[in-house]
Amino acid sequence: MRYIEPHGHMVSRTTDDYQDMVTAGCAAVCEPAFWAGYDRSSVHGFYDYFCQLTDYEPKRAAKFGLPHFCWLCINPKESEDTRLAEEVIGIIPQFLDRPNVLGIGEIGLNKNSRNELKVLEWHIDLAARTNSLILVHTPHLEDKLKGTRLILDALKSDQRIKPERCIIDHVEEHTVELVLDAGFWAGMTLYPESKCSPARAIDIVECYGNERLWMNSACDWGISVPLAVPRTALEMRKRGHRAEAVDRLIYQNPIRFMSQTPKFKLP
Ligand SMILES: [Zn+2]
Repeated sequence: MRYIEPHGHMVSRTTDDYQDMVTAGCAAVCEPAFWAGYDRSSVHGFYDYFCQLTDYEPKRAAKFGLPHFCWLCINPKESEDTRLAEEVIGIIPQFLDRPNVLGIGEIGLNKNSRNELKVLEWHIDLAARTNSLILVHTPHLEDKLKGTRLILDALKSDQRIKPERCIIDHVEEHTVELVLDAGFWAGMTLYPESKCSPARAIDIVECYGNERLWMNSACDWGISVPLAVPRTALEMRKRGHRAEAVDRLIYQNPIRFMSQTPKFKLP
């Protein structure tokens, strides 16, 4: 089996996880910028984090022959403080040229607040000005449908943004159709406790096809499984999906999406 982990928060994982992922067939890992489990007190915390994502972490992954890519932003959970967000967005351009940076993400909404929406629009503007790909986080549980609608509206209202260059992550049964119908890519996050279980993700693939879909583990410092993608692939095979269809979903699709930036190259 071969697969890409298109959304893994590796800074919060152990080196053993890298070893297990490569053993399971992982060919590249992509790490969106996110919340660290606590609110950072200043822009300097983000500066150090961006250095970690673009320098230290790719070197740690390289020890196992694993290419490491990343996405940069201030995540929605810390976007309530718009002054801080403005400062953080101000330092992102100096990192965008680094070789492993794929684009802006994971941006989006957490509680669907006015300030979060404002910061989302600033990120969309930055992506448009720098011709960057976009990776979007959608809120959890009851806020998800409303948040997904607000996010899609914000993206669609900026004429410079091409939907096929944006992936809307953490979709579920009630949001996937909205996303795909509007021409965006959709990501399914495989979590043991919330978001999509492997069985639900496979149901979604069976209902909506695998044209513009990918799966990720979004492994982070919380309860999550770094091998969720290959395990779900095994489950797909058990349910009768052909090896080529599984390969398309877990390997070729992430490559198709991310190859829209020349930065994404596999050795
Ligand atoms: Zn994430």
